[in-house]
Amino acid sequence: TPLTLHGALDRAASEFPSRPALIADARTWTYAELAFWSRRLAAGLQRLGVTAGDKVAVAMANYPEFVALKYAIARAGAVAVPMNILNRQEEMRYVLEQSDAKLLVTMDAFRGSDYLRMLDAIAPGWETVGGGETLPKLDRVVVFSAEGEAAPRPHATPFAALDRDESEFRDVAVQPDWDCDILYTSGTTGSPKGVQLAHDMLTRTAFGSAYARAFEAGRRIVFSLPLYHVFGYVEGMLSVPFVGGAIIPQLRFDAHTTLSAIERLAATDALLIPAMSLAIVDAARERDYDLSSWRSALASGGRAPERLWADLFSVLGLEEVTTGYGMTETTASTTVTRPNDPIERLLTTNGRLRDVGPAGDPDMGDRLVDYRVIDPADGALLPPGETGELVARGPGVTRGYYNKPAETAAAFTHDGWLRTGDLGRIDADGYLVLLGRTKESYRCGGEQVLPSEVEDLLTSRADVAQAHVVPVADERMGEIGVAFVVASAGATLDPRELRDFVAARLARFKVPSRVIPILQDDIPTTASGRARKFLLVDLATQMVG
Ligand code: ATP
Ligand code: MG
Repeated sequence: TPLTLHGALDRAASEFPSRPALIADARTWTYAELAFWSRRLAAGLQRLGVTAGDKVAVAMANYPEFVALKYAIARAGAVAVPMNILNRQEEMRYVLEQSDAKLLVTMDAFRGSDYLRMLDAIAPGWETVGGGETLPKLDRVVVFSAEGEAAPRPHATPFAALDRDESEFRDVAVQPDWDCDILYTSGTTGSPKGVQLAHDMLTRTAFGSAYARAFEAGRRIVFSLPLYHVFGYVEGMLSVPFVGGAIIPQLRFDAHTTLSAIERLAATDALLIPAMSLAIVDAARERDYDLSSWRSALASGGRAPERLWADLFSVLGLEEVTTGYGMTETTASTTVTRPNDPIERLLTTNGRLRDVGPAGDPDMGDRLVDYRVIDPADGALLPPGETGELVARGPGVTRGYYNKPAETAAAFTHDGWLRTGDLGRIDADGYLVLLGRTKESYRCGGEQVLPSEVEDLLTSRADVAQAHVVPVADERMGEIGVAFVVASAGATLDPRELRDFVAARLARFKVPSRVIPILQDDIPTTASGRARKFLLVDLATQMVG
């Protein structure tokens, strides 16, 4: 049977009641406790007037309360709108307004950001009149304080007020095809879009991930990726209930903290994006940790330098590293390498199109997302092995963007395939190779350039930690490439020498006309750790133009 989000949790709570589900610092919640907690919070949401279909925005770091609340929102039949906590005022207003949020659950302050201050600026008077004129639909703000004190504002509702006796909860017949989340995309290519994700899309994709990565019973996944992004949410939080495993969410990323959490809490698995993998490898070289419990990692979400994959095995001692490809619109990863694939697969592909679920389980056994490759110019289907735009269709693909009919229509082909905006190919053996975004490729002197090819060449050098190639307009050539490069720890980069390095290896039209060293902190990045290239294009244009 298709499952709801809380249905998956309840099933785990009856199958593995006393297994740990969530481990945060010194505290552990079992499946029975987490399910019970989510029922109490669901009663609290109802008491505040939340009914089926209402939008509940949540701006919270990876606290255990976030996890319990997500299950509670699902249980109440409401739709969660998880917000990027790095959002600033304008972005926060955009999401609250665009999503029709009725309730906002937020933190008072976190790592230098004061969320209530931002709210004061967006919706003056929110304390007494809800969202007021700016956000007329918003009628209440619940504030979580990490230190557990009462809400710092007289009319804000403290998080503790959500915690009601579970007998007050009135059951809602939540259907698996109801929307469970409106999850905003990372905003790599422009402003984030709210992707509608239904309960069964989420649970089936999560199950598919656990299955494809061959989860053993009780797998323990550590991650610092935010729960408001599909990667940590689906591959972490939602995939462990199927095997009675636990998540160990971190509030912020720090390589040494992650390594000591793995050691102390006997984590077996981790979710990593390239920047985290690099930092963890360096940290493990610096200091000795007992990493004997740590067997596997899902390393994905961005282009990684080639040497990194070997380091994951040799420096960290992992037995199994997988990688994949996915997007918010496809409910997270939809291709993944096999756990025992040789390292060449990690280096050259982004995983296999997968058939999810054990054979014989009709509900879980079909392919959630099918891919094809089309010619981005005219939409013609291309034969296997040829490069073009990846398009996706199937029960794992979103119905569309919330309240954005024009964008939704534009995102699909006339026969219902989602245009991913990604360039890639699918080889005859079913492995997908991602080559970048259609929008990022450019023409120099009439020749097509794929930035990823130049970036991979640059990061093949030990002294280059990151490379981002973007086009700027040029009168003579149409477009020319500019490469931003980040030096590896301790290295200094010589732009001229890097340019010569590329020129010696690639065709002339692919050689960036400028190579610009930049600090990692100066690269605008998304929650999923990717460079926001359209901002780099602006920067390059200012510097070169
Ligand atoms: P927006 O849609 O707002 O521009 P976004 O596409 O970055 O933002 P996400 O849904 O978080 O938002 O990211 C999905 C994209 O991430 C994919 O379309 C693809 O371009 C990229 N991606 C996914 N997997 C990988 C990977 N393994 N390596 C590199 N890039 C990846
Ligand atoms: Mg996208």
